[in-house]
Amino acid sequence: MVTAIAMKEARQPKPLPAPNSDFYQFAETLNADELAILKKVHAFMETKVAPIINKYWVEDAFPFELLPAVKELNLGGLGIQGYGCAGGSQLLVGIVGMEMARFDASMATFFGVHNFLAMGSIEVAGSEEQKQKWLPTMARMDKIGCFGLTEPLVGSGAGGGLTTTAKREGDTWVLNGQKRWIGNAPWCDVSIIWARDVADNQVKGFIVENKTTPGFSVEKMQNKIALKVVQNGQITMKECRVPEANRLAAAAQSFRDTARVLRGTRYYVGWEATGCQMGAYENALKYTQERLQFGKPIASFQLIQDLLTKMLANITACQCMMVRTAQLANEGKLTDQQSGLAKAFTTAKGRETVSWAREVLGGNGIILDYNVARFFADAEALYSYEGTYQMQHLIVGKAITGFSAFV
Ligand SMILES: Cc1cc2nc3c(=O)[nH]c(=O)nc-3n(C[C@H](O)[C@H](O)[C@H](O)COP(=O)(O)OP(=O)(O)OC[C@H]3O[C@@H](n4cnc5c(N)ncnc54)[C@H](O)[C@@H]3O)c2cc1C
Repeated sequence: MVTAIAMKEARQPKPLPAPNSDFYQFAETLNADELAILKKVHAFMETKVAPIINKYWVEDAFPFELLPAVKELNLGGLGIQGYGCAGGSQLLVGIVGMEMARFDASMATFFGVHNFLAMGSIEVAGSEEQKQKWLPTMARMDKIGCFGLTEPLVGSGAGGGLTTTAKREGDTWVLNGQKRWIGNAPWCDVSIIWARDVADNQVKGFIVENKTTPGFSVEKMQNKIALKVVQNGQITMKECRVPEANRLAAAAQSFRDTARVLRGTRYYVGWEATGCQMGAYENALKYTQERLQFGKPIASFQLIQDLLTKMLANITACQCMMVRTAQLANEGKLTDQQSGLAKAFTTAKGRETVSWAREVLGGNGIILDYNVARFFADAEALYSYEGTYQMQHLIVGKAITGFSAFV
């Protein structure tokens, strides 16, 4: 016999599926420790970052109020073994970056610049003494780092064209020149500066204590339309004197060593680009389930479902590519061209995904309050930084054809 309660229940609409950008159950492949860290990062980003980040984005400001909680995550030195660092596999590195970017690409970038570009340079190219001196304090995030390679007049051509000079005078190096676009530079403590040695014309790396080195100044870059929470700076160095003990001594003898640092960090950008798409997709999907037009949720329209499915396909393809890239990195086999292909592919797909997300929001897609607009804008920076799409394709093109097309 059908009761009144059962009839009422039968009339209740089925609950809609919650947005889930992990369609191929990638999280199930993580071990218990990795999953616990992923959940910790998720909770931090969801409860601490998401509620306030649009305000900081509008104000072009970094949320310093979050730094104590960031430190408590104990993620400093992620992927670096020893020296008080968080360690962990390359997969863990990736999923942390992806999860951060799923909520906010600026926070993922701030962390990436400190952890992988600045600390990573010391790990890859520093001497044992330099690692002992700098990595523990940076792992605790008591000192925050930046990475100065790009210059006002030299971006993609940094390999052969750096104009910042380093001149040795006894046990001191004298640095002169400018760096542009340097993330964290307006407020951080330690700058890794890449400069051309006037004696042998090779690019060398220097650890500069920027707050206490005379002649070192930073001007905050204004009027960005992407990653506005990250503070980028234009650095000017006039007769900056740096001790020989601060020259990255173990490996930074040429631009080849700089490129080794970038191999790891470009691949991290691939994870960021994947996370950025996940955030845009989840916000967009939720919106389409709630927004009514013609008396129906727009999620019920075929053309909207087509866009949502294409977004999910992009995300899933990027996740699969990044997981394999992490396996190669773990085995020490990741090449520049594999890292470059992942960076180029995920950031290009990222632009496509966020533009579809913006599209399904209609006019609200360009209003920050719905979050998608922030992902939409931030994807532009991911596409260009740490080597543009074209530069990555030239790296891959050289590897697959045997011909260098670099000019
Ligand atoms: C938000 C943001 C954060 C950044 N953070 C940092 C940082 O922390 N540290 C740092 O050192 N740098 C940083 N950068 C700089 C970044 O790495 C450079 O912007 C990037 O390498 C490109 O250089 P560019 O902007 O000078 O462009 P350009 O090199 O001037 O390139 C302009 C265009 O020309 C194309 N192009 C150039 N050469 C070729 C060629 N041979 N063949 C075909 N096409 C070519 C490029 O692909 C691009 O489309 C950051 C940039 C951004 C936007």
